[in-house]
Amino acid sequence: MSLGEVFGHEPAVRMLRQSLAEQRLVGAYLFTGPPGVGKTTLALALAAAAACPNPRDDPFDACGACASCRAAASGQHPEITLIQPAGDLTQIWQFWDRDQKPAGALQHTLQYSPVIGCKRVYIIERAETLTLAAANSLLKALEEPPPYVLFVLLAPSPARLLPTVVSRCQVVRLLPVPVETLGAWIEAKAQLDHNMALKVAEFAEGCPGHAFRLAGDSRLRQEMDRILDIAMQLPTATPLSCLRLGDDLRKAAAAIQGMLGLETETGTESITDSSSPEDSAQEPARERAGRRQIAIVIELLAGLYGDLLSLNVGGPAARILHVDRRSQLAEMAARRSTDYWLTSLEALLEARRRVDQNANLPLLVDGLAMRLAVG
Ligand SMILES: [Zn+2]
Repeated sequence: MSLGEVFGHEPAVRMLRQSLAEQRLVGAYLFTGPPGVGKTTLALALAAAAACPNPRDDPFDACGACASCRAAASGQHPEITLIQPAGDLTQIWQFWDRDQKPAGALQHTLQYSPVIGCKRVYIIERAETLTLAAANSLLKALEEPPPYVLFVLLAPSPARLLPTVVSRCQVVRLLPVPVETLGAWIEAKAQLDHNMALKVAEFAEGCPGHAFRLAGDSRLRQEMDRILDIAMQLPTATPLSCLRLGDDLRKAAAAIQGMLGLETETGTESITDSSSPEDSAQEPARERAGRRQIAIVIELLAGLYGDLLSLNVGGPAARILHVDRRSQLAEMAARRSTDYWLTSLEALLEARRRVDQNANLPLLVDGLAMRLAVG
């Protein structure tokens, strides 16, 4: 992976390229952003470019052909070390030798100049899982690394690391990629149809890593179909069966959530105790997952009801999203008034906004189900 191949983070790539070209790389970076946004990808691309003894310039990048670049591409570069949590935590013995443990990653390498490439790079994934002892043991190395050493720490947000660690790093924030941009990328890369690609980008919340995983998961279309099947029963359901359908919807959404792998990546709490309100990483993982599931369902429903409204107003040939369900939807659309579909769609969009505003979720879902049933 070269810097030129990194998708969706142009400002960060531009800044790093400039620092590389002017030989002004600092010794320690902290890349922040949600899981799946591309922190590891960018860190590996930076490592390859920084290590390459024969880099291209304008724009700066790894040459892709030298021994260092080939080793980096194979994931086996002895001077580019990826340190991941051992279980839920990243512990001191992973860096420095401790009795009865494997050799520490820094112990016998930090003081030696690299041989294959120009930099020795240590990428610390999920740095929010560093134990207090491990974090403190890194402070000196982060403060004054040898000139040939580059540390790249990765974490959801600076608030989840010790301030003493953050203050020794240059922070590079990676933001989710806009849905349209990510959709176009995944459409080309995974050869999905346009609507599916946009859905995948939405579910992935602008994170290329998640989008790529979802795009390759055949269960996604099944679960989306399941949600739409359930949704199509809503307009004719009794209020009581609406509540049951609501439950089914949540289960289908949970399956999609599971494909994103969000539970495992946000499940551990950090060692630091910080609570800035704007930092969504601080929201308990389960609460956040639940909110995300409801959002997925509501977005799918809104797409479906949008189609129903279009068909009701524009007739059976109207432009719609779910073309594969056209005849069934057209029949449904004709059964209710334009006003009903409009009111229902408004209720869905309103509910979607309230999910983001931290509304009480069970109340919101039940209220929505009733509104859709009664119309
Ligand atoms: Zn090279």
